[in-house]
Amino acid sequence: MIPASGSYQLANARVHRSLTPGLAAPFDADGFALAELLVADGKIASIVAQAKSKAPADAIDLAGRIVLPCFVDCHTHIDKGHIWPRKPNPDGTFMGALNATGADRAARWSAEDVARRMDFSLRSAYAHGTKALRTHLDSVPPQEEISWPVFETMREKWRGRIDLQAACLLGIEGVRDKAWFERLAKRVAAAKGVLGVVTYMVPDLEELLDQVFAQAIEHGLDLDFHADETDDVAAISLKKIAEASLWNSFEGNILVGHCCSLARQPDLEVLDTLDKVAKARLAVVSLPMCNLYLQDRRNNGTTPRWRGVTLLHEMKARGIKVAVASDNTRDPFYAYGDLDMLEVYRMATRILHFDHPVGDWPRAVAATPAEVMRLDGAGTLAAGGSADFIVFKGRNWTELLSRPESDRIVVREGRAIERQLPDYAELDELMVG
Ligand SMILES: [Zn+2]
Repeated sequence: MIPASGSYQLANARVHRSLTPGLAAPFDADGFALAELLVADGKIASIVAQAKSKAPADAIDLAGRIVLPCFVDCHTHIDKGHIWPRKPNPDGTFMGALNATGADRAARWSAEDVARRMDFSLRSAYAHGTKALRTHLDSVPPQEEISWPVFETMREKWRGRIDLQAACLLGIEGVRDKAWFERLAKRVAAAKGVLGVVTYMVPDLEELLDQVFAQAIEHGLDLDFHADETDDVAAISLKKIAEASLWNSFEGNILVGHCCSLARQPDLEVLDTLDKVAKARLAVVSLPMCNLYLQDRRNNGTTPRWRGVTLLHEMKARGIKVAVASDNTRDPFYAYGDLDMLEVYRMATRILHFDHPVGDWPRAVAATPAEVMRLDGAGTLAAGGSADFIVFKGRNWTELLSRPESDRIVVREGRAIERQLPDYAELDELMVG
């Protein structure tokens, strides 16, 4: 359907208002309008509202199929991905995940093991239509010396297909070893990475956050936190991060993931935290599938009663940038997943109510994470931008989000890619023993 020449006109493409900046078109109540796209030399030469007159005979008539920009997945763990067969989570809990992953990492995460699983993950993400992805890298000694070089090699290998970013991942106590943490920050800076830690309520949290911010400022790094991935109402590290950002006058980008406990706290406390998050210009990413899996798991014969996700609606209403992302895939933190951002959006729609109205929620899997990751122009369809988009079968939200859309067409730089998902059997030999 998409000519290999890379130069063509698409007619009757259904595009969304939230992802087509500058397009003047009669958008409907769902935010959709029909558009004509001219593609040439790998770029979108023009995008205009569909003319009433008949499209030229050589135009490709998409007959109202939805066309979205390629996805941006801003929170993943491709160093952990796909270890499930050899290291399942024994009880589906957060602690079960932490312990199982720690044991697997210590025993099995050689450079080759990490590289092969990463590549497998990236082939899936690419086939599903993702063009940029940030992964966290477990950076507990000695893993940082293994995984960061693998990541740098992988980024080169995937350049032009997936823009890769990495953030280091360690518990906030790791920052207490000042000299080691400073070395890690230097290593991250050398790899043009992002400085990341997991925050929870340790007595010296404020002091440790100050050290994190000091290193980020020293090395010119953006920040990425895992915060409050728990139902414990006493977990308020999101607020502490916002405060630390304000008193350190931090100017870089900060992305905070999870923030589950916020949804369990009293309204007044929540309002105070959100005001600070907005003032400090933090962006928040929710990981709905992983949260649904780990949060409120009871293992006592009773049924979970909350969804685990944070307060994205309240955040967006305050102008806080919000995204959703994949998080873990087939590892002890989440037994499922394939880095398919359409699945993430479909699940987020159900879990977080991204509907009635849909509004500008589609930005949460494309334009907004692209801004947080400083990827100019990614996650939108605009004249002059790269012709990176996905043509779906669905012509409206209910069609798009009811089927897996396994037959979607992914176009990169104007040409349809081969969408071959890797075979699980490729990983079998890594799973033995
Ligand atoms: Zn995560």
